[in-house]
Amino acid sequence: MSRIIAIANQKGGVGKTTTAINLSSCLASFGKKVLSIDLDPQGNMSSGLGVDKDEVEYNAYDLIIGNAKIEDCICKNVIENLDVLPSNINLSAAEIELIGVDNKEFIIRDEVARVRDNYDYVIIDCPPALSMLTINAMTTADSVLVPIQCEYYALEGLSQLIHTIELVQERLNPSLKIEGVVFTMYDARTNLSLQVVENVKDNLDQTIYKTIIPRNIRLAEAPSYGMPINLYDPKSTGAESYMLLAEEVINKGEEDD
Ligand code: ADP
Ligand code: MG
Repeated sequence: MSRIIAIANQKGGVGKTTTAINLSSCLASFGKKVLSIDLDPQGNMSSGLGVDKDEVEYNAYDLIIGNAKIEDCICKNVIENLDVLPSNINLSAAEIELIGVDNKEFIIRDEVARVRDNYDYVIIDCPPALSMLTINAMTTADSVLVPIQCEYYALEGLSQLIHTIELVQERLNPSLKIEGVVFTMYDARTNLSLQVVENVKDNLDQTIYKTIIPRNIRLAEAPSYGMPINLYDPKSTGAESYMLLAEEVINKGEEDD
């Protein structure tokens, strides 16, 4: 059975896309078949995985507006074991195009249903908003993984995000779970990062991944080469931590079964 994980947090710059890219790639390096779906019009996951997002024939926008089937939108074997459903700036018009359309919350779910058996993991990168695209990701997903940046306002907006997930559970996708939270951009040189981790642990009643992603310049550099961290610099602390996170995701999945 495949597992579909949406990476969501309506705050921008918390490490969603970095986590989506590198979790996808590290899962693939463990031999898992992965489909990475980019639902952010910025298309940074697509380019970070090496897809030329403005050159592909069809993308997530075409899928959303019914201009293409999912099979036509998927770029195969971008990396060994890893396929990508890219997006680009066109996707920013999707919200408007969907006004008044029936069942618009389920467009991605219904398309992904046709191909999910080809994959062990489907990883969905969400835009930084609680928008129709994020709702589509949440109706498609089995679980939501929430990256939390180790900074002072870490908890801000989290209750709104959890409320949104609960509404989706109640009304649209009863089997949706919160996969857990992952701390990102941890800076061991400052007390602040440590305090944020302690504070979130005390105040949040959610699974927290043991793996903490450090602040690592190699993680910020890798996307400009169109490479995930485990290919760009496999010995970096960033690569090591995303490999550990992938392992934890795999083990947690097996426990849940
Ligand atoms: P989001 O998708 O939530 O907006 P990103 O993953 O794009 O966040 O990250 C925001 C910025 O921070 C990007 O420039 C990214 O390269 C950088 N970044 C993300 N995670 C790390 C990290 N662990 N160490 C250093 N830079 C990071
Ligand atoms: Mg992003």
